[in-house]
Amino acid sequence: MVGAEPVEVLRRLFGYDTFRGQQAEIISTLVDGGDALVLMPTGGGKSLCYQIPAIVRPGVGVVISPLIALMQDQVDAMRALGVRAGFVNSTQEWAERRDTEEAFTRGELDLLYLAPEALGSVNTMRLLERGRISLFAIDEAHCVAQWGHDFRPDYLGLSVLHERWPDVPRIALTATATTATRDEIATRLNLTDAKRFVASFDRPNIQYRIVPKKSPTTQLLDFLRTEHKDDAGIVYCLSRASVERTAELLVTNGVAALPYHAGLDARTRAANQSRFLREDGLVMVATIAFGMGIDKPDVRFVAHLDLPKSVEGYYQETGRAGRDGLPSTAWLAYGLQDVVQQRKMIETSDADRNRRRALAQHLDAMLALCETVTCRRVQLLAYFGEADGEPCANCDTCLTPPSSFDGTIAAQKLLSTVLRLDRERNQRFGAGQLIDILLGRSTDKVTRFRHDQLSVFGIGTELSEAEWRGAVRQLLAQGLLAVEGDYGTLSLTDASRSVLSKERQVMLRRDPVKAPRAAAKTPKAAAPALAGEAVGTFERLRAWRAATAKEQSVPAYVIFHDATLRQIATDEPHTLAELGRISGVGENKLAKYGQQVLDVLAESMPTAAPAAAPKPRSTADDDDLWGDEELVEPDYDD
Ligand code: ADP
Ligand code: ZN
Repeated sequence: MVGAEPVEVLRRLFGYDTFRGQQAEIISTLVDGGDALVLMPTGGGKSLCYQIPAIVRPGVGVVISPLIALMQDQVDAMRALGVRAGFVNSTQEWAERRDTEEAFTRGELDLLYLAPEALGSVNTMRLLERGRISLFAIDEAHCVAQWGHDFRPDYLGLSVLHERWPDVPRIALTATATTATRDEIATRLNLTDAKRFVASFDRPNIQYRIVPKKSPTTQLLDFLRTEHKDDAGIVYCLSRASVERTAELLVTNGVAALPYHAGLDARTRAANQSRFLREDGLVMVATIAFGMGIDKPDVRFVAHLDLPKSVEGYYQETGRAGRDGLPSTAWLAYGLQDVVQQRKMIETSDADRNRRRALAQHLDAMLALCETVTCRRVQLLAYFGEADGEPCANCDTCLTPPSSFDGTIAAQKLLSTVLRLDRERNQRFGAGQLIDILLGRSTDKVTRFRHDQLSVFGIGTELSEAEWRGAVRQLLAQGLLAVEGDYGTLSLTDASRSVLSKERQVMLRRDPVKAPRAAAKTPKAAAPALAGEAVGTFERLRAWRAATAKEQSVPAYVIFHDATLRQIATDEPHTLAELGRISGVGENKLAKYGQQVLDVLAESMPTAAPAAAPKPRSTADDDDLWGDEELVEPDYDD
């Protein structure tokens, strides 16, 4: 569609009515030959920003993407829309590569996907010189930032693009957003003169929740059963071992889950990733090795069983939920042990001093987010430089506001216990022993060390054990206590003195008794609930989509997104023309699947079907359906 109007391409190929946010402006910048630096959150709609200019400009758009394992899916998704796309990488068959290269040289492609390392090869450079290039798109551009968390050395070589092809417009895109990273991208990619487009990083459809960690796997199962039964989602764990254990526990409890971490062999990893993308309703239990570039739109939740190391990481990981704009949950269980563990990791790491300080600052920001008593979203957005937000009504602190109380006296009791042990006995202990002392418990360990004879023994009975744990956690988070050594013993910091000398007040958060469940009553971006019959129709459409996707071995969302199926189920179009007006149904998909969709709809007309209708998916008020289900522990070998 060379020379076509961008909006016409949007409507005919993609089946969408209007551009979102700054898409139109970004696209016209490129169409006119200018460069662009695009910062948009995950799900913001970055891909269209280079796909459409590549389609309307003469020549082939070259997309640099670090995700070799996902190139096939990206290409399949483009082809399903009727866009001529191909990729060249080290994993493919020789013949396929040759065909793609020829298509490129003849100008018979709209998009060519390449890995950054390919540009270091003479063959690739020669290939690129043989064709006509319409633009370069540099996806995941934050990989060029050396201090960012996803640095890839191959990205540094991308400056060659501008040197060899100074007249070809370039667009760099990322969902990582701090100002420092932005500037580094612009400098390293020689894009300081490029037009910058910075979108709001808000993801209104994601509900952010951070719950106190008690028994994490039971809490996770409860969360899945009551809110996300049969939904696709990602569960992040810190270690490979806990990935394995959690995946196994979920499977034992009837949740379809798969593990993913760098310790699995490449084949298993690829197979699990591919199943997660292709099948409906799978849960991926993973370390943070998983997720970059996963553009599955219907991930309904992202759960963290361990504390992320930075707000950037947390935001990027949780951002993988709800790309399709439908309500989704970001759920994190967080407790004292997380703080101890991460502080210890930084303390004992062999990184240089500057790096350690940076790590500590990242962690502090993450802890501040966990301990806040105000809107989480406001705090998140402020971190990315968007100030003045209103409370969102779609995060746990908005839905069930926690209270805070003056914890100065409690803090003094705790700190003076640490001080006494140190001064009088030259001893250091972890949180457990300190709490036992404060509560006046004569445990074996307390008696053995004669801690029952300390003047602080039993002075803290006004708080419960859980409250004391919360207090220790928050003092650690606020830098009023420090963690030391391999045993995680606690010691005072310089700042502790100001509390002991009554110069500093300490406010503590009281965790809400009951965490909010299910969606907000009026979340900003809730999808309208499907009406009774539409639920059944939607399920039928999903079943049809699953079968079709399997047959063509493409991910289900390459056929139609959930949002599109929901709209079809609600509108019940009777003709191809009516179907074609639904958002997400472009010309190519209409021609290919239109009749099949109408057939599925005809089957689900009231006269034909109800008896055979599949069981509706659970909704938030199905709770009691699961009330009596017990947690089953798997047998471990170790
Ligand atoms: P990003 O790469 O920024 O994470 P994507 O490009 O994957 O986001 O887009 C997110 C989702 O939004 C996709 O499902 C995409 O099809 C959809 N989308 C993008 N632009 C529009 C638009 N103008 N109208 C409707 N849906 C859109
Ligand atoms: Zn809020």
